[in-house]
Amino acid sequence: MAHKSVILITIDALRPDHLKAYNYHKNTAPNLEKFVQKGCIFSNALTNGPETPSAFSSLFTSILPFLSGGFSPLPSQKLIFPQILKEHGVYTYGIHSNPNLGEYFNYHRGFDVFLDGERYKEKQDMPNNQGIKKNSLYLLKKLLNYKNLFNRLMYGLKGFNKIKSLLRNRFPFLTDIFLPFTPIAYNAPYVASKVASFLKNFDKELFLWAHFMDVHSPFNPPSKNILAITNSDISLRERHFLNSEVYQNPKKYKISNEILEKLKILYDGEINYVDSFLTQIFSIIHNKFEKDCLVIITADHGEAFFEHGAFFHQGNVYDELLKIPLFIVEIGEKNHIKRAESIVQLIDIAPTILDYYGISIPESFQGRSLLPLLEKDFIDREGCVISETYQKDGIMKRNRETGNKLISIRSDEWKYIYNEQFDEELLFHLKSDPEEKVNLSTKEKVKLTEFRRIRDSHFEEITDVGESSKISKAITQIDFKNIKL
Ligand SMILES: [Zn+2]
Repeated sequence: MAHKSVILITIDALRPDHLKAYNYHKNTAPNLEKFVQKGCIFSNALTNGPETPSAFSSLFTSILPFLSGGFSPLPSQKLIFPQILKEHGVYTYGIHSNPNLGEYFNYHRGFDVFLDGERYKEKQDMPNNQGIKKNSLYLLKKLLNYKNLFNRLMYGLKGFNKIKSLLRNRFPFLTDIFLPFTPIAYNAPYVASKVASFLKNFDKELFLWAHFMDVHSPFNPPSKNILAITNSDISLRERHFLNSEVYQNPKKYKISNEILEKLKILYDGEINYVDSFLTQIFSIIHNKFEKDCLVIITADHGEAFFEHGAFFHQGNVYDELLKIPLFIVEIGEKNHIKRAESIVQLIDIAPTILDYYGISIPESFQGRSLLPLLEKDFIDREGCVISETYQKDGIMKRNRETGNKLISIRSDEWKYIYNEQFDEELLFHLKSDPEEKVNLSTKEKVKLTEFRRIRDSHFEEITDVGESSKISKAITQIDFKNIKL
């Protein structure tokens, strides 16, 4: 009996305009470019959230971040599509190393195998009233849990982290030696080899999700990946300056074109680094599947390089964060269109995957299957894409108790941004102003009123915060500096 497989590859913070398929002047990812020739490039793909929690919530639930109880942690009533796949007998495998996507945040649900490079865990209290034997076993288990010990060292002692990043900078190969002993930092070689060896030996109906963190800042790729895309390397000292000074405190420096260029070279080097390992997965797919396999490659959000006065990806909803790459390759299928111009969004991924297995799409899903678009592009000029998150003073927040609403509503031609904290409204005419520089909110009153109406009716749909409020204050902000070993 024929069985189908879906492989979903997500690359954190990958901007489409740094890929040749989206007209970048460098070929940062030659293996990816070659692989996606067999499929369809979606030129206008958007995320529904500008950072990992809001974006992945949209991808996995097909519901906008603010709705159904919020997005971080995912409320248990907000189903993720692997749960539906598992109910239908599909074997589900996931591997990631983004602390926002761990078991703590409810992303493990529905996965038969979930390799969780998570950083946050709910504190387990010592079981009471369970007898001496159980309590001693519990203590022994705690004592022997090297992962907890590693976590304590890593997040408790500043010096430990300094030594760790020093080792990574001076002796990058140590990453691979230490990797089996660390609870996080599944870097590209690790993720790719795990996925490749799993795929090689598996032969059932399968859904596999692999998430790569390496393109996420800090940007510190091996020199050979820099030299693969440009003529000269960037010294360790300069890398440290760019990552730890400029990127963290841009206000302290004059951000020259030279600085921006160097940061982009480092970023492109990380893309090239991931690409050099993706090829392992692509070659297994090539050898193993002749048909009945759908490969989806995308990102959760983009990355800002000071286009609007900020780096990183939080606290704004400009297009440098909202535009994402999206490729869909159906193995063995030759009649698909090569490029789709329709505006598509992350909430469309879950319905697309269910549709491929022939599973009916739940009513609650807000996205649509993209499979029909592979046959014939259909441009909807009426539709709107909503992207939203919570923020305060430009810092990402996880719920409406700690942050204020930040929303972008985008049509084919226009984009409206509302920042609740400052009651600020921006309106851009994307067709004439794609860089979102000229705010027309005072001039285009009719347009503004239309968008306000959409905004208000969307906000009316927000129900109680639900489980999101359970999250402790201590983890409302994530420090990404130490994710990569
Ligand atoms: Zn992310």
